Amino acid sequence: MTDPKELSNLTMSRKECPKCGATWINGEHRWYTGAVGSEEDLAGLVCNKYADSQCINPMRGDETGDTWEKRMATIRGLSPDEEES
Ligand SMILES: [Zn+2]
Repeated sequence: MTDPKELSNLTMSRKECPKCGATWINGEHRWYTGAVGSEEDLAGLVCNKYADSQCINPMRGDETGDTWEKRMATIRGLSPDEEES
């Protein structure tokens, strides 16, 4: 007989950043939706602007990820109303 407790011996680690509220599950950043996130995007969107040394995002300070500037540029690029004068 195998003790079922041994089979469910998976330890799930969950860390939450005290500054930006981002969560890491088993070392993997997740968005609020539960989708796997990107630490680079998180850094560009949140941590680089709002977080300080308390932030646990290992990519904080990295500028290769998404930023609001890039996102706005993308939204503008897709926007159909280009010039309304
Ligand atoms: Zn953070």
